[in-house]
Amino acid sequence: MGLTAWSEQAPPSPDRQASAGDWAALESRIAACQGCPLHLTRRRAVPGVGDRAAPLMVVGEAPGAEEDRRGEPFVGRAGQLLDAMLAAIGLNRQAGVFITNVIKSRPPDNRDPRPEEMAACRPWLEQQIAMIQPRVILAVGKVSAQALTAQTGTLGRLRGRWHAWRDTGIPVRVTYHPAYLLRRPAAKAQAWEDLLVLKSALREAA
Ligand code: URA
Repeated sequence: MGLTAWSEQAPPSPDRQASAGDWAALESRIAACQGCPLHLTRRRAVPGVGDRAAPLMVVGEAPGAEEDRRGEPFVGRAGQLLDAMLAAIGLNRQAGVFITNVIKSRPPDNRDPRPEEMAACRPWLEQQIAMIQPRVILAVGKVSAQALTAQTGTLGRLRGRWHAWRDTGIPVRVTYHPAYLLRRPAAKAQAWEDLLVLKSALREAA
């Protein structure tokens, strides 16, 4: 089923929490989506995982090989680091956080998602954000940072300040992708600063 069928359905209204049925419907539509050619090469679509009433949503770039095999985001080495980063501020993927990606299918050879792939997948992310209504969104890595802030700067220019998700006022913070931190451990100090800002924003929003 493509995007048209989904967009013909009324999304849950902002004043109603999404039901398990809404989630099941969304996930089966993502699994069946043929909105871009990546459906031809993926093993499994990777919708997202975690607490569906989470105050924090973490948005990465795209599933990698391990995620494509298991149907869950951030389960490879970068995912282990992401889990450690979340644990450092008292969160884990079962409670308090929902983890997803800008696109739900793996690009071949782990290349960056193409603009048309991101555009085709965007309604799914928009729907997830509308259903969760998180207090804060954390964009990890440049692809996600640009997609969520609608800006084109480098990651270095996008991090260190607050953005907003479209016109919702949901605050968006940007940090380094854990895969980058594995390659450049020196950047972990800055990522830690980002996590502390995030932690205090979540505490204030509670
Ligand atoms: N990198 C991402 O951006 N997302 C994943 O799910 C895994 C690795």
